[in-house]
Order: sequence, then C-alpha cells, then structure tokens
Amino acid sequence: MQRTFIDIARFQYSAEAQIVKGKLQSEGIEVFLKDQVLIDTDPLISRAIGGVKLRVRAEDELKALKILDDIEPYSVDDSGNRLKCPECGSERLIFQTSVKDVKSFLAFLFSFLTFALPIHTRYDYRCENCGNQFSNK
Ligand SMILES: [Zn+2]
Repeated sequence: MQRTFIDIARFQYSAEAQIVKGKLQSEGIEVFLKDQVLIDTDPLISRAIGGVKLRVRAEDELKALKILDDIEPYSVDDSGNRLKCPECGSERLIFQTSVKDVKSFLAFLFSFLTFALPIHTRYDYRCENCGNQFSNK
C-alpha cells in the first residue's frame, strides 16, 4: 500500500527530535525519524546530511504542523500570522533549530519542557518550495 510521508521538521540532535516526536505521538500522530541512527553514530554527520528529519503521514501534515506551532511559537510573527518564505511567500517551511553546542542544547531542552523558549536560541527555517533558508530574527 502506497503511503506518502512529508518532512515537517529537522533537528541537529536526535534528542530534540525525540521530544517533538513524543509530543506529536501524544496527539495521536504517527511519527517517523529519518537518519536518526546515522546521526547518533556520528554527530558530525548530522550537519552534513541536514540533521534528523521528522516525517509524518501526508494526511497528518496539517495537524502535525498545528501542534508544532503550539510548541514553537516563533513560527508565527507578532501578529499571529504564520511565517512565510521571504522569497516566494510559501508557508511550507521546515523548522530547524540551530543549537550550536551542548550548553545551548540543554537550554533548549529545558525551555522546551517548560514551554518558555529561550530568546537567544535562533530558529531557522527552510522553504520547501524554493529552498530558501532564513531565520526569524
Ligand atoms: Zn520560498
């Protein structure tokens, strides 16, 4: 049976992906992590291959994106509008964190669990439509 899967986020560390995966699964969405084993084997590979890709079934995409919005408020601007690609205006953005080291990762982890995301953590997005990468800051 043919299934379509869609990447909705990518993470430099699989631990980040696991947190989001747990959240989505608690909402009844089946989540698949791609390249996780490879990255856990050698973290240096993570950057090279673009991190752990978190994918969901196509039919779960909208629900999953909405949950990501809830736990990741930076995907909306100050007026509550969804972020759009500055190049082409597409809303099909892949969320990627730019956690640089263990310390900032722990800060990310802590803030994620307490739902108070740190101001100093940059959030990057990649447009699925045109490939443009941009940050929300
Ligand atoms: Zn674009």
